[in-house]
Amino acid sequence: MFEKTPDPEQARADMVAHQLASRDITDPRVLKAMGDIPRHRFVSDDLLSAAYQDRPLAIGFGQTISQPYIVAYMTQALALPTDEQSVVLEIGTGSGYQAAILSQLAAKVYTIERVPELAERARKILHSLEIFNVEVLVSDGGYGCPDHSPYDGILVTAAAPHVPPPLTVQLKNNARLIVPVGAKGYQDLVCIQRQGDRLRESRLAPVAFVPLRGEHGWQTDD
Ligand code: SAH
Repeated sequence: MFEKTPDPEQARADMVAHQLASRDITDPRVLKAMGDIPRHRFVSDDLLSAAYQDRPLAIGFGQTISQPYIVAYMTQALALPTDEQSVVLEIGTGSGYQAAILSQLAAKVYTIERVPELAERARKILHSLEIFNVEVLVSDGGYGCPDHSPYDGILVTAAAPHVPPPLTVQLKNNARLIVPVGAKGYQDLVCIQRQGDRLRESRLAPVAFVPLRGEHGWQTDD
């Protein structure tokens, strides 16, 4: 099973040291979460030996689990309050891995997936790991989830052609929305911080995410 990475614990420790701490991941909460959550449980059996490699991996339905560094980078960029009372929204559950990382820094994570089979797979993995503060919802995440808003942070893990307006409305004051915005295949990671009635926008890094679909995303045939 683990031909190339015989020990997942060791592989995970190496990942944290060589892919995260050696780059610009400095938030101890993020480093601890990345060291604690077993990424290999979120990938399929045929990719087990690649689970801790420095790259995204296929999870079915044409979707991917993001590169570990990008998961850590986006989590750090949210700059969640340190009181662990945060309520966070993620758009694009995929495997559930990013939601699992967020669950270690927040009181509650809502995560929205449009593919019901992926949502169900993520639910099962999260429960098997006894992570009970993540709720997986099936809908078009471009609308966010007004019912549980406002949020202390919103992460979008699929690429949008523009910042979905409903999401900025659902931010608490001073909270951040992190979203890849740009063309298909190449985007800028954008950070929007609500400051009262104003939104402060900054560009963080070039990234490449699978497309966000639906109302505020890309249409299937474009
Ligand atoms: N965060 C994931 C990886 C995201 S891949 C992880 O940790 O594994 C992007 C995901 O966004 C895919 O699963 C895709 O189905 C989903 N997605 C795309 N458009 C969406 C939309 N409008 N609403 C909700 N989910 C969407």
